[in-house]
Amino acid sequence: MDCIEIKNLEIFANHGVFEEENRLGQKFVVCCDLFVDTRPAGLSDDLEQSVHYGDVCKFINEFMSNKTYYLIEAVAEDMAKCILLKYKKVKSVKLKIKKPWAPIGLHLEEVSVTIERGWHDAFISVGSNMGNKKDNIETAIKRLNADEDIEVVRVSDLIMTEPYGFKDQDDFLNGAIRIKTLYTPYELLKCLNEVETLGGRERTVKWGPRTIDLDILMYDDLIIDTEDLTIPHADMENREFVLKPLNEIAPNLRHPVLNKTVGRMLADLIPSS
Ligand code: ATP
Ligand code: CA
Ligand code: CA
Repeated sequence: MDCIEIKNLEIFANHGVFEEENRLGQKFVVCCDLFVDTRPAGLSDDLEQSVHYGDVCKFINEFMSNKTYYLIEAVAEDMAKCILLKYKKVKSVKLKIKKPWAPIGLHLEEVSVTIERGWHDAFISVGSNMGNKKDNIETAIKRLNADEDIEVVRVSDLIMTEPYGFKDQDDFLNGAIRIKTLYTPYELLKCLNEVETLGGRERTVKWGPRTIDLDILMYDDLIIDTEDLTIPHADMENREFVLKPLNEIAPNLRHPVLNKTVGRMLADLIPSS
């Protein structure tokens, strides 16, 4: 990805774990790589199509001098998030915060923290078979979108399907959504669980009735297989109620383990479709 690099921006600020650091302040030096598609600006020669690096420098200066943190790790984390929320053209950002005068009583050239943060693409399946199903799903989607670390990009139509696994229960309303998120996969799972709890979800019978179920289907092209989290979702290729809505919003999305598109998985599951 193209990159706009800001190198060694000097800022006087008051971060540190020692009281004197907060009181007296010291020099910090910041490097900031903004990963942006610069081609539209390159072709049009129009600043509006790019990210104004002067503006970003002013933002970094204000951000760092207006607030006091103990740790440069925290400065970097919060600032990366603010840059990603403020400058929508920035897909990811690499920040290096250097502290050349770190007061450790020994000579060192500098100490620094480097992080890279960015937006991730994820697909979530939504389902409900209790209460006002449509309302439950719409409320959950609204709650996700209200979280600043999540932007809901697309919502599929909702389809009514027969229960899967445990048959003796009401029909399900199912759908799929596409989001952009700053969360890691585990943070996203935690957030989905919180939205499920707010939606009155109780876990009693496996695959039993629920007001709302939110599963992570895919997260970038990541493959995770742990006790708490499997991505892509373990059983998605065998579930019509997952693949149908997903196929509506992302037919060419490719399963990184099976190396099949959503369209292909659906056609293999129901040959007539
Ligand atoms: P299924 O996952 O087969 O659709 P379910 O949705 O009914 O079943 P839950 O009771 O909602 O199952 O979740 C059980 C556990 O599944 C969660 O606590 C979570 O840790 C784990 N899990 C693993 N992978 C995922 C994923 N990709 N998305 C959501 N939960 C997951
Ligand atoms: Ca599920
Ligand atoms: Ca679930």
